[in-house]
Amino acid sequence: MIWNLGSINADNFYRLPHLPGPGETIAATDLRQGLGGKGANMSVAAARAAARVMHIGAVGQDGTWALQRLLEYGVETAHITVIDTTTGHANIHIDADGENNIVLFPGANHMVTDQMIGAALAEASPGDFLLMQNETLGQPFAAETAKLLGMRVAYAAAPFRADSVTRLMDKVDLLILNAVEAQQLEDATGIALGDLPIADIVVTLGADGCRWISATNEAERSFAAFRSDVVDTTGAGDTFTGYLVAGLDRGMKMPEAIELAQKAGALMVARQGTADVIPDLKDVLDHDFGQGA
Ligand code: ADP
Repeated sequence: MIWNLGSINADNFYRLPHLPGPGETIAATDLRQGLGGKGANMSVAAARAAARVMHIGAVGQDGTWALQRLLEYGVETAHITVIDTTTGHANIHIDADGENNIVLFPGANHMVTDQMIGAALAEASPGDFLLMQNETLGQPFAAETAKLLGMRVAYAAAPFRADSVTRLMDKVDLLILNAVEAQQLEDATGIALGDLPIADIVVTLGADGCRWISATNEAERSFAAFRSDVVDTTGAGDTFTGYLVAGLDRGMKMPEAIELAQKAGALMVARQGTADVIPDLKDVLDHDFGQGA
């Protein structure tokens, strides 16, 4: 089972003739709302990959629709607390050329307490996964508790902060980074990824696939991506991570879980949207990727 301490956001996509300048008021021509937040995306991805997923997080009174939608997508929501505040949201302005700017408000995501996390993890079993990102609070307490309970800790360190990674490093079993984040981590620590005290590190490389650095095997292996017609790369990394951890949770070895995650990522970039359009396991297994990787 996967216990995902993660953000839940409303993604509000406003279409505008142009992006507003200082002091300017513009009427949007369209508004679409979707479920987002790295945490919610990863929970949905893992649930669609057929894992049992308990989301740990918080929404405001205005966010019960998000909770309902997670439930419909197969995510367990008993440890999402509804509190008296605003649900996290991203207001995404998109102009006629597709250029955008984004205002992000963490809201309830930044009101997750250690007590909420403790109450959830008290129900976890040894061998379960704790999954975390950087859009909520409470990662140090969650990681420490998970290790005491004999859980495996997976950490997708985005939005990236080097100090968050260094303070959690000795408790993380699987670290997932994209290429930019991997470089930032090496620059900040002065240590090559292979020399960090983490059993498995996976670096995603967009259309170039990914790299697996295994401290246990003292080996590094590259995997080519599957071919895809790119429409929108948003959510590719979150989909990859959800599928990767779900595969490992279901007993796959790392190369097999990586193959599944890369297939899901390749399908995801061919779709417009975030949590609502993450491919399910049947889509991934039925798709003909040709020769692929
Ligand atoms: P992030 O969104 O976190 O920056 P990446 O862009 O590295 O993550 O993408 C995560 C994974 O999704 C990649 O490792 C790859 O498997 C898949 N992916 C991303 N972009 C493409 C692409 N253009 N073609 C095929 N697969 C892709």
